[in-house]
Amino acid sequence: MPQPVLEVTNLTKRYGEYLAVDHISFAIGEGEILGLLGPNGAGKSTTIQMLLGLTDPDGGEIHYFGQNFHQHKVQILQKINFASAYAELQARLTVRQNLRIFGMLYEVENVERRIDELLTLLEVEEYADELFWHLSSGQKTRVILAKALLNRPKMILMDEPTASLDPDIVNKIIQLIKQLQVQEKVSILFTSHNMQEVARLCDRVSFLQRGKIVLTDTPLGLTKRIGKTKLLLSFEAKQTVVADFLEKAKHPATFIRPDLVEVTLLEEDIPSLLFELKKKGVWITSLSTEQPSLEDVFLHISEAKEL
Ligand code: ADP
Ligand code: MG
Repeated sequence: MPQPVLEVTNLTKRYGEYLAVDHISFAIGEGEILGLLGPNGAGKSTTIQMLLGLTDPDGGEIHYFGQNFHQHKVQILQKINFASAYAELQARLTVRQNLRIFGMLYEVENVERRIDELLTLLEVEEYADELFWHLSSGQKTRVILAKALLNRPKMILMDEPTASLDPDIVNKIIQLIKQLQVQEKVSILFTSHNMQEVARLCDRVSFLQRGKIVLTDTPLGLTKRIGKTKLLLSFEAKQTVVADFLEKAKHPATFIRPDLVEVTLLEEDIPSLLFELKKKGVWITSLSTEQPSLEDVFLHISEAKEL
């Protein structure tokens, strides 16, 4: 990797005896989105707080743009920004008033123009003069993202920005963040406890478990290692035909009814499975798939020593 935008080495934080963040190391390149995925209590927020200078680490180093964060905090904080579901925006001010305050803090030039530009980019321009607390949670999230972009940061730290949103709104926000990555060429550290969301958004994903990074890979790499999908098939054929075929193909399967089976397999193997069953004269009447949950992934990681 050329000079990373953010480089973290052996970062550690203790609360008493407990290591909330346990010697983690990672780097983020220009324009890259790294996902930090982990269940509640894994240490995601503590990591972000240290990266923002809000909590002092007990060990390790943080470099932004090749500069030591501890030694160049003020300059670096002007070049990064932060977004979270738990916004620090003022409920009783309008969207524009809120953004003006941050615009002043960051000494943004042509701040009104920048605010208009960002409200348009995030598709909330019609709410500019609404009070912040009148907005829906999806609209609030977009305004928070606009705030996070005000100073044209090179790096945005996002701590579960989608945590309070409905799934359909999450999809829209994910699309918007991807668009920001392209248009604003910004690097993003994105924390979440949602595997699907992180897999869709991020260029690489690190799993955080009890303060430790236990695995880092691309979403595709993760799918290859862990990505067993559950395929639910109902069919018209003799049960034995399907059962024999699945056994030969070595796909673990459970028959829920004689004409309904749940098969565990890699997503990429689904098309050939369906094709082979069809060749055997099996008529598929319906199918649905279920992606692995975060729990499945963690189970897999703790069971599989070779990872
Ligand atoms: P996550 O954001 O992944 O849910 P956190 O970083 O908030 O996890 O918390 C990691 C661990 O550190 C948890 O066990 C939490 O209880 C503990 N912790 C977080 N903040 C504090 C604090 N200020 N004092 C003591 N323990 C804390
Ligand atoms: Mg958290």
